Amino acid sequence: MPKKARLSGIKAFRTYTINEAAEVSGVSPRTISNWVKGGLSVLDDERPVLIRGDDLRDYIKSQRSERSRKTRLDTFYCVRCKAQRAAAAAMADCDLKHGRARLTALCESCGTVVSKPVAEAKITELGRTLDLRIERHV
Ligand SMILES: [Zn+2]
Repeated sequence: MPKKARLSGIKAFRTYTINEAAEVSGVSPRTISNWVKGGLSVLDDERPVLIRGDDLRDYIKSQRSERSRKTRLDTFYCVRCKAQRAAAAAMADCDLKHGRARLTALCESCGTVVSKPVAEAKITELGRTLDLRIERHV
């Protein structure tokens, strides 16, 4: 069982290398690398890989909520509602880039923009419940 990741020290507006992200969230660099493969967003074309603090926090939060209440694939964590919400009108934009996918939608309750990374392999499954507008970036 991996160590539980910490959210408290992660600053939303700074960027972290893999090692820094590991240190601040209390997990191993290998775990962070796995998260990146699993859909954690990184800044485009930056080497070494840089991760935005808010993306890191969102990712840890989405993992926690998946564990604690079996989040459905087609729901999002809304920061304003502080809860899992469905997408308004069951519509979402899906941006595909470098084999990673990010869904963006509006919270059905408050209209706040919500987004989350998803595995590209899940897109077909998502398409059954969400009206996806898929954009591929090269
Ligand atoms: Zn909301």
